[in-house]
Amino acid sequence: MIEFEHVSKTYETHNDENVALDDINIQIDDGEFVFILGHSGAGKSTFLKLIQMEEKPTKGRVIINGQDLTKMKRRKVPYLRRQMGVVFQDFRLIPTMTVYENVAFAMRVTNIPTKKIKSRIPYVLSLVGLEDKMDRLPDELSGGEQQRVAVARALAHGPKLIIADEPTGNIDPEMSLDIMQLFEAINKVNITVVVVTHEHELVHKLARKYNNRVIELANGMVASDTSHPEVARRYAARMAERENGYDDYEDYDDEE
Ligand code: ADP
Repeated sequence: MIEFEHVSKTYETHNDENVALDDINIQIDDGEFVFILGHSGAGKSTFLKLIQMEEKPTKGRVIINGQDLTKMKRRKVPYLRRQMGVVFQDFRLIPTMTVYENVAFAMRVTNIPTKKIKSRIPYVLSLVGLEDKMDRLPDELSGGEQQRVAVARALAHGPKLIIADEPTGNIDPEMSLDIMQLFEAINKVNITVVVVTHEHELVHKLARKYNNRVIELANGMVASDTSHPEVARRYAARMAERENGYDDYEDYDDEE
């Protein structure tokens, strides 16, 4: 479970202060699939950095699986990070390593025994549909396939939480839908999924189809959160309004 209790984060710059998050209260339960949606500068990256303890809140508490990160010792941070799998916008694959080696390398650094690595890689690659491409190098794959490798790598050590930072930022629109549906499938096997993105139209389309929770950040605050029935109702009304106005993601309707 992820809990943000009255969390604020202010960055000090050489001549100013930037309020990135302003008194945020969010609770994400185990097994949820949540989109954190917001325009550039809304505070999305800061939200993810706080979860991974790359930054500390200026005020308030961040609690992950019952552990209060504001009280956590530095040396415990690697254990915290092992409880999650992270997917990045730019994939972060090692270009000289094959698909198999990329996943194996990530497992080796967390001290997983070789035998377990050998048995688990075909499984995680089959989850992302890439078992027949394990000997390819990253640049021999499409952007969408590279992101699938990154998802397999994030799953390799068996985390119960996957966080994705703009996972579709570097891939085609059709592949973007594909990757989001992959997260949907991952969530079905009881892994909590938190996807941070600025792609409003894609999220609205998916959330309507799969009923995902959408938390919208704006100016460091929670602008809306569809987990609350009243907010969900207003959100649905707004979506319907948008629908009547324009719809530039027609391609995404093909499976409905
Ligand atoms: P997003 O990921 O939604 O684009 P961020 O969390 O990166 O938003 O940023 C939120 C606000 O905090 C922005 O105004 C940004 O300029 C500011 N900010 C982010 N990181 C820093 C930093 N290291 N130093 C100063 N200001 C920052």
